[in-house]
Amino acid sequence: MSPDLSAGIYLVATVLFILGLKGLASPKTALRGNTYAMVGMVIAIVATFYHKDVSSYSWIVAGLVIGAIIGSVAAVRIQMTDMPQLVAILHSFVGLSAVLVAIGTYEMHARMDALGTVFLIEVSLGSAIGAITFTGSVVAFGKLQGLLKSNPLIFKGQHLLNLALIIIIGLLCYKCVISPSVGYLILLTILAFALGVLIVVPVGGADMPVIVSMLNSYSGWAAAATGFTLHNNLLITTGALVGSSGAILSYIMCKAMNRSFFSVILGGFGGETEVASGESNEGKSVSSAGAADAGFMMENATKIIIVPGYGMAVAQAQQAVKELFDTLTEMQVEVKFAIHPVAGRMPGHMNVLLAEADIPYDVVEELEEINGEFATTDIALVIGANDILNPAAKTDKSSPLYGMPILDAYRAKQVFICKRSMSSGYAGVDNDLFYYDNCSLIFGDAKVTVEALVEAIRES
Ligand code: NDP
Repeated sequence: MSPDLSAGIYLVATVLFILGLKGLASPKTALRGNTYAMVGMVIAIVATFYHKDVSSYSWIVAGLVIGAIIGSVAAVRIQMTDMPQLVAILHSFVGLSAVLVAIGTYEMHARMDALGTVFLIEVSLGSAIGAITFTGSVVAFGKLQGLLKSNPLIFKGQHLLNLALIIIIGLLCYKCVISPSVGYLILLTILAFALGVLIVVPVGGADMPVIVSMLNSYSGWAAAATGFTLHNNLLITTGALVGSSGAILSYIMCKAMNRSFFSVILGGFGGETEVASGESNEGKSVSSAGAADAGFMMENATKIIIVPGYGMAVAQAQQAVKELFDTLTEMQVEVKFAIHPVAGRMPGHMNVLLAEADIPYDVVEELEEINGEFATTDIALVIGANDILNPAAKTDKSSPLYGMPILDAYRAKQVFICKRSMSSGYAGVDNDLFYYDNCSLIFGDAKVTVEALVEAIRES
């Protein structure tokens, strides 16, 4: 294929990726966005097959077959609730491949005696970013999968150590450029592996979404660096798209959690606190309710706000929630859904589940839109959510959730919370709301509870 045709096809693929990202901005257009991105990727892969630099197909086909098998098995087996882990491990692959490409092409150029300055800058930066992405993503995977403790790991001198590593890696990149040696490249890569671990270990609990989206951004920059090394324009533009959209997502997540980006990166947020200076809930009792009582109150309510959380995803209760929505709407009860930006385990998790159950978009509202409405709501029905409505985020400075905006469910006249036990949520802290006078817990699996609510409402 001529270079001009190849560049033209890559341009079409890039435009499709941009349209894909644009589509993913709203649940209404997400399916279309995904289709654009998939078509773009197929075009990109086929065009790469015919690229002038491709001399043999055996390795490409072998990689494609192995990758397609692993990818298909993972896609079928993976639970929706485990998506962040999958995303984290996929980022690690991008990081590792950037490292391998950098070292491999360095060796090739060294043999041809073609180690130009620009090339050396590209490989040293590509390898450093790739290495940070690789180990950082592996640690994030371990934390999300529960293989490692999700609490922040903080030790004295951590920031100084990180700073020292960044400076040494920078100096090694410089050395690599002025007096090329594979030894420098390998040494800077090893130090970048260590830096990746050190950047992620101090982040934990409720701040994990930010670190996942940040690693997403790094993986994009690592891919872009690889694109420069391989002189592949499509990889450069795609990497830049992933890198910048990941950075924007990290910023949005930080804003949603009321954290500064640097405080998350520097770590120490999101874990269990040693001493709670706020009032302890020890000795206080919670009130529990049955589905029949809650159902009776719900059918007599004028307005209900449903707050879905991670537990709805675990229980796969979204279809039952749709039935509840239909039943109440038929009875002229106004029902809305309140979505917290970090509800569930991935950005947009709740929107995806509600869309899957065909719940109309116009009754699904984001935190800023709906928070003012809780005070005039008869019932807030919480389905498997916890951290995102913990009032300690407003009142207890020692809480790891402090400062994170919450859904003000506690302002409703009555709050019902569907959960199985008194266990805490992802951040590992007790929820003050459970002990409020206007709050009752309905214990049990969310799907079973919601089905029981529907039955109770229909029977009465
Ligand atoms: P939480 O993790 O705070 O709480 C989930 C609740 O669901 C728990 O109280 C649990 O209680 C309950 N639950 C679990 N399974 C079931 C079930 N089958 N039936 C009924 N209840 C169930 O979830 P939230 O959505 O409120 O908050 C999300 C948290 O996850 C935040 O801390 C956020 O920072 C973090 N996070 C978010 C990510 C994102 O991108 N959105 C990524 C990584 C972390 P019980 O066990 O008693 O049933």
